[in-house]
Amino acid sequence: MGSVNVEIAEAVRVSLADILQAKRRIAPHIVNTPLVASRSLSKRVGSDVYLKFEHRQHTGSFKFRGASNAVLSLGDDQKVKGIAAVSTGNHGRALALAAKQAGTRCVVAMSELVPQNKRDGISALGAEVVIHGRSQDEAQKAVDRMIADEGMATIPPFDHPDVIAGQGTLGVEIIEQLADIDTVLVQLSGGGLISGVAAAIKAVSPTTRIVGISMQRGAAMHASLAAGKPVEVEELPTLADSLGGGIGLNNAYTFAMTRALVDEVVLLDEEEIARGVHHAYWHEEEVVEGAGAVGIAALLAGKIAAPGRCVAILSGRNIDIAQHHKLISNQPVAR
Ligand SMILES: *Cc1c(COP(=O)(O)O)cnc(C)c1O
Repeated sequence: MGSVNVEIAEAVRVSLADILQAKRRIAPHIVNTPLVASRSLSKRVGSDVYLKFEHRQHTGSFKFRGASNAVLSLGDDQKVKGIAAVSTGNHGRALALAAKQAGTRCVVAMSELVPQNKRDGISALGAEVVIHGRSQDEAQKAVDRMIADEGMATIPPFDHPDVIAGQGTLGVEIIEQLADIDTVLVQLSGGGLISGVAAAIKAVSPTTRIVGISMQRGAAMHASLAAGKPVEVEELPTLADSLGGGIGLNNAYTFAMTRALVDEVVLLDEEEIARGVHHAYWHEEEVVEGAGAVGIAALLAGKIAAPGRCVAILSGRNIDIAQHHKLISNQPVAR
């Protein structure tokens, strides 16, 4: 057992101390989101289920925690030069506001094909929007140029210790809000969220079970865990669009941390995810995006064995409102 513990210690490169430091750093900027008991889910699964309302975080997702911690951790020189990124999703929104609050320049590059409402959303949060090319890869070239020519920095969405420590503050909040937790259900894509949350919770409560939830359509971390190394999977459209994308073949942190700290991974099909969004609205009265609803969905699908005293994180709310309308009224949706 001794060697196993050494292996885990080497894999877990973000500690509870790092996470507590992040918590002090970002506390003035973030919402301490509510943890609420779900009567409907508790009744359905026959044990105590709680929901962590992180979709009510600034910018509509937990990504703001990691972005805020990473931006505030930049050196003074880098704060002046600023940051650049391509994400139009939750990471881009989070970076835009985090940079604005820190008084740091933030440029978000996107392709011509990104719809106007997404451009407006990012600039409303305080970032400069640069339109470049007709694909995400071409927009990335604009960012690479700003990094090379103007000395800007970029902050990746998950595989970075400051980002992981920021997401870990969500785990600390959960254990401050509720004692004796048996199971925590955490969204799993690149693994920044689950690495941080698991590092925080396992440090205090090693027997609490951490379950990662991904969609069947393109679960890159799940495939990588099975292969024993980071692998690429085909990216497919899914209702849980915020869970799409790979983990990076050169993954430096989240693959090892997920492998060391996560007890199991559950995969969901599109119908199951749709039912999660539907349930969140009609039974919890919350607007949650597909990725945000996968914990609820896994419980409804009966895919969590013996949940016990269980917390499901609602990770985000940024869903196209027309698509949300279709999901809650049981109409077919295009992905
Ligand atoms: C990014 C994101 C996730 C997945 O987080 P990872 O750190 O990539 O695993 C889950 N839910 C929402 C709403 C997200 O934006």
